Amino acid sequence: MNVGKITDMRITPWRGGKRWVYSVTYDEGLQALLGATLETHRKFGVPGHVSLVAADVGRPRNVPGSSFDKMMILSRAEIDSLCAEGWGVSNHSMTHAAFTRGNARVEIVESRKVLEDALGRAITMFIVPGSNDNYPLSREFAAEAGYLSVVTLWDEVNLPDCDLLKTGRTPLIEEGFYPFFSVFDPYSRLCQARDLGGWVVDYTHIARPREAMASPPKEISLEHLAQRFEKVKAVGGEEVWLGEATEVQDYILCRRHCRMESSEEGWTLFCNGLPQGVQKRIVTVEATMEDGSKVLQDLPVRDGLELPL
Ligand SMILES: [Zn+2]
Repeated sequence: MNVGKITDMRITPWRGGKRWVYSVTYDEGLQALLGATLETHRKFGVPGHVSLVAADVGRPRNVPGSSFDKMMILSRAEIDSLCAEGWGVSNHSMTHAAFTRGNARVEIVESRKVLEDALGRAITMFIVPGSNDNYPLSREFAAEAGYLSVVTLWDEVNLPDCDLLKTGRTPLIEEGFYPFFSVFDPYSRLCQARDLGGWVVDYTHIARPREAMASPPKEISLEHLAQRFEKVKAVGGEEVWLGEATEVQDYILCRRHCRMESSEEGWTLFCNGLPQGVQKRIVTVEATMEDGSKVLQDLPVRDGLELPL
């Protein structure tokens, strides 16, 4: 970069200098996502994310009592094709059981290896199954398992300095449940995320026609999925990053482990202590020019980097 004309440089809170971020996650990874749900994502250019029960890949779901029991789960080849178009994947435990001290290591730690072997790809995010009752043990075992984030069922906007081991999610569901019943709001959390410069991670399982739904508190109608994406774009415009959840996680970690320093010679980008598991290693650097204009550039980073700019 031409340092003579630069008055300031910084790493932007979000990729591409965007103001806020929107992601959406589908727990269980139902094969039926490949129909109209996927088409809706393609239409709006929003990447999705599936969180898989490690023992269920490519098999009918085996969680008796679940609204989605016996439904087919995505296979490795199907997940490969989703990932090829920008989707991501995370772990959702070994069997979706209630965690106890007795099963926590299998459900949280050993399941990561099982899922990585089943998919042939790195798994760095853990999405708590069932309810937040499973959260304390998820957090306790996260470091041993090697997760970079633990994603919960707390409905909140994640700020740039959020605790990635307690990432919040917003329900993208047709009907809220006990004890405060509610109906779908396409704007849920979006204006707050824009104002705070935060990250919304939607939670759902699948989008289907209203009449085909098995459980309105766990899924969204196709009509409302499209409406949600329309409102994300209406509220966000050019300011929203439509980010796949693990890419956002990776960006946050790259940003936290990188810093800019200025000297007589100019600006230098340093990267130290980047966790090994981070897959997408990029930061966006914003240069402010003498005339006040901004120039953005995505830069690849690695641990130990010392890059004069
Ligand atoms: Zn689940």
